[in-house]
Amino acid sequence: NRIDPFDFIIFGATGDLTMRKLLPAFLQRFHAQEFQDDASIICVARSAHSPDQYREQVGRALKEFSPAAAQDTETLNKFLAIVQYVSLDATKEDSDWTALKDRLSDAERTRVFYLATSPALYAPLCAALADHSLITPITRVVLEKPIGVNLKTATEINDGVGRFFSEDSIYRIDHYLGKEGVQNILALRFANPALEKLWSSDAIAHVQITAAETVGVGKRGPYYDESGALRDMVQNHLLQVLCMVAMDAPASLQADDLRNEKLKVLNALRPMTPDMVRHNVIRGQYTAGRIDGQDVPSYAEDLAQNRASNTETFVAIRTKIRSSRWGNTPFYLRTGKRLAAKTTEIVLQFRPQMWPIFTNTPSPGRLVIRIAPKEGLSLVLATKDPGAGGFRVRNAALDMSYENQFTIEYHDSYERLLLDAVRGNPALFIRRDEVEASWRWIEPILDSWRHALSPLEPYPAGSWGPASTRALLARDGALWHEDMLT
Ligand code: NAP
Repeated sequence: NRIDPFDFIIFGATGDLTMRKLLPAFLQRFHAQEFQDDASIICVARSAHSPDQYREQVGRALKEFSPAAAQDTETLNKFLAIVQYVSLDATKEDSDWTALKDRLSDAERTRVFYLATSPALYAPLCAALADHSLITPITRVVLEKPIGVNLKTATEINDGVGRFFSEDSIYRIDHYLGKEGVQNILALRFANPALEKLWSSDAIAHVQITAAETVGVGKRGPYYDESGALRDMVQNHLLQVLCMVAMDAPASLQADDLRNEKLKVLNALRPMTPDMVRHNVIRGQYTAGRIDGQDVPSYAEDLAQNRASNTETFVAIRTKIRSSRWGNTPFYLRTGKRLAAKTTEIVLQFRPQMWPIFTNTPSPGRLVIRIAPKEGLSLVLATKDPGAGGFRVRNAALDMSYENQFTIEYHDSYERLLLDAVRGNPALFIRRDEVEASWRWIEPILDSWRHALSPLEPYPAGSWGPASTRALLARDGALWHEDMLT
């Protein structure tokens, strides 16, 4: 399973993503001996660091973000020796592109450019790579999210990058697809035919997909304030998870078979009209509150200079999929910052009994797919209450936790994805038409908000979002997971 030598070039090498995620993920895989010290990781940014200064900075980041692997000093030093640094302004023609060229191996080696800079630089950067003849027949480019801020800018980026790279060498990353819990949706559904038989409106009353964080915006305030929860989380991660839950069986696990099925789901989402946005989308922003016994400030206070902002830190959406499989099942998407708990999960709520025969009726059973923080599954079924007078039933859960069943190999989703890009396996990356279909669905929501058609509702930090979020489900007689009794 060891990978052939490769050159991996990261643009944005001094940034948060590189230090916190990319280099720690590489160290983990190096520690697991998935690649050797004949690989090169060439880090590029404008700051003027000497290679040694840069390695020192990286060493500190690795100890913080990959402490277990970094404890092994021999591995850490060997890894740092394959990390190089080139100072270069990717937007300047007269920058030292030769310094980068000199560090690259010959054209036979796999070459991956990872663009961890502002998306506005993606197209000019690719043009510069072509101008300096750095793109070989086996070069791939990885694009970080967000691909644009709307359909127009996404199309421009895709066109700009597509002038220099063919679609099969463009790897658009969505790190949710690197999560075991998300990939397991495929196994759960398509390796368990019995379960797949239940997987439709016939048996599933509704589906809820939640990605809740307890943290605020932290240091990423300026980025987040431009973006908001809808662009930051829903357009990419939550819609990808929704596709995995709702798609039909692909013909194989090959990239295009998977992507074709996901695309069908995106195209089948009920389009949002302004009226539908008003009734089916909730946008909120956190005010001060308490989380885990600590007072936490409001979003405005979290932003530098404590300024008022119209950006949403919470969004909940009710939607439907126009298909014979799902037409009668609402899908609820919800994400936000400073919520009551950190959790990413999918809940498939089963339909209730049509004619109850027991002396009581607990809430209908459900399947919960936990993606984070601890991956696992929980199947909640009505069970006879032993010894209770009459024939009473109550819900009990069959629980499976990954941690107890398996040895967890990948600690972070980037570990799998970075090496998939090196190996040339695009199955867990997003195709151009998927990105554009997602934006096409999201854009009417953004337009409605721009025209102030939906109020920005406050919610106290430590809650589950604005009060109206409950009403969104109550209309269908449904409850959010945390409100279900058992
Ligand atoms: P960041 O901390 O602002 O880092 C940006 C990096 O780009 C820095 O290393 C900067 O270094 C470099 N850079 C800027 N202009 C450059 C130029 N002209 N030439 C060469 N290098 C240049 O941003 P980030 O948070 O790491 O995010 C990077 C990308 O990943 C963004 O697209 C972001 O949306 C995406 N992303 C980030 C996260 C995250 O958790 N951070 C998560 C998902 C996606 P110098 O100033 O030294 O040039």
